[in-house]
Amino acid sequence: MAVERTLPTPEGEDLLGLVRDLAGKEIAPRAAEGEERAEFPRDLFRLLGSSGLLGLPYPSEYGGGDQPYEVYLQVVEELASAWLAVGLGLSVHTLSCYPVASSGSPELKDRLLPDMLGGGLLGAYCLSEAHSGSDASALSTRAVADPSAPADGYTVEGAKSWITHGGAADFYTLFARTGGPGASGISCLHVPADTPGVAADAPERKMGMSASPTAVVRFDGVRVPADALVGEEGSGFSIALSALDSGRLGIAACAVGVAQAALDAAVEYAKERRQFGRAIAEHQGLSFMLADMATKVEASRELYLAAARRRDAGRPFGTQAAMAKLFATDTAMQVSTDAVQVFGGYGYTRDFPVERYMREAKVLQIVEGTNQIQRMVVGRSLTGDR
Ligand SMILES: Cc1cc2nc3c(=O)[nH]c(=O)nc-3n(C[C@H](O)[C@H](O)[C@H](O)COP(=O)(O)OP(=O)(O)OC[C@H]3O[C@@H](n4cnc5c(N)ncnc54)[C@H](O)[C@@H]3O)c2cc1C
Repeated sequence: MAVERTLPTPEGEDLLGLVRDLAGKEIAPRAAEGEERAEFPRDLFRLLGSSGLLGLPYPSEYGGGDQPYEVYLQVVEELASAWLAVGLGLSVHTLSCYPVASSGSPELKDRLLPDMLGGGLLGAYCLSEAHSGSDASALSTRAVADPSAPADGYTVEGAKSWITHGGAADFYTLFARTGGPGASGISCLHVPADTPGVAADAPERKMGMSASPTAVVRFDGVRVPADALVGEEGSGFSIALSALDSGRLGIAACAVGVAQAALDAAVEYAKERRQFGRAIAEHQGLSFMLADMATKVEASRELYLAAARRRDAGRPFGTQAAMAKLFATDTAMQVSTDAVQVFGGYGYTRDFPVERYMREAKVLQIVEGTNQIQRMVVGRSLTGDR
């Protein structure tokens, strides 16, 4: 079912039309098999790039699309509805461009952004480590000032875990320790993937989203120049958190896409499947379940859109982004589980997509801050604690 959307500009309407077309013709038909084969669809990201979709919320002077978040997120939702690996991939790429776009010097922006936003390159965001996940400021990858590195730069030593696009990305937005312990010792570096010493392990074998590679990325004596530094030394953690405020809105949009796909599949099936002499949708127990699913999907979409509009208006939106991520991803989990229930025994097979939606929804409750961490963010905003 095509979602009725209100977009702020005619340009946004045209963009969504293009994305729907692309999602329906090029992306959705490949999702089930791509997941079975665990093959990363790099060609689809080239297609998104050549369609101008890989830099949407960034300025056009650097090759971006100049779109408000309200529009960009609905693009993410449409793509995630067709194939989560693609919608989430777009969201992660956008996240990985954020530090340079928001905190890079004018020289760095001029040098890096056109290729990052123009569609040719794919990015990855490297914050998590094996021993620092939720407590990301405890990270231990080190970038040591090294006069022998090119242009008086740094030598990086360490490993990042769980990196989406690990091994497939063209550049890594890396958070590493240049100073002492804690958040204030962390800096952000831009590392091209072909820098000597950068290597990725084999992708993790995951419950779902198998076509999106998630891997450990190792930095073994990696030398980067001083101008790989994004922002000031020591400002990396606040850049990382600020990027995640926006990134969480992308995850909320992905969750709404998955939930909408599960709802659509459940409604279609419930209209066709007959038991006790009538369509199962006509049994009140089931139609109430569908009604609850639809209500939660709609509420989730409005929540992320409200947060996006705050962001677009230049107002604080971090708490609202955490609420949207929390509510939309819990909704995706509930709605996709209910969709399996609507399909009965058939829902538990790989012959229908709903079991895949259920497996995909789970990861959205974990990435870019688990939903326990989102509750911490919201709770602290209520009590004023930091
Ligand atoms: C498919 C996938 C893709 C990912 N992609 C990326 C990526 O591209 N880049 C990146 O940097 N990371 C990525 N991650 C990592 C992800 O962000 C982390 O998995 C997540 O932040 C949780 O960290 P952890 O796995 O170490 O869990 P832990 O932090 O060990 O948490 C374990 C459990 O304890 C709970 N917990 C922890 N602390 C608290 C607390 N204070 N209060 C209450 N509960 C708490 C958590 O909510 C969780 O339930 C990805 C992960 C997955 C699975």
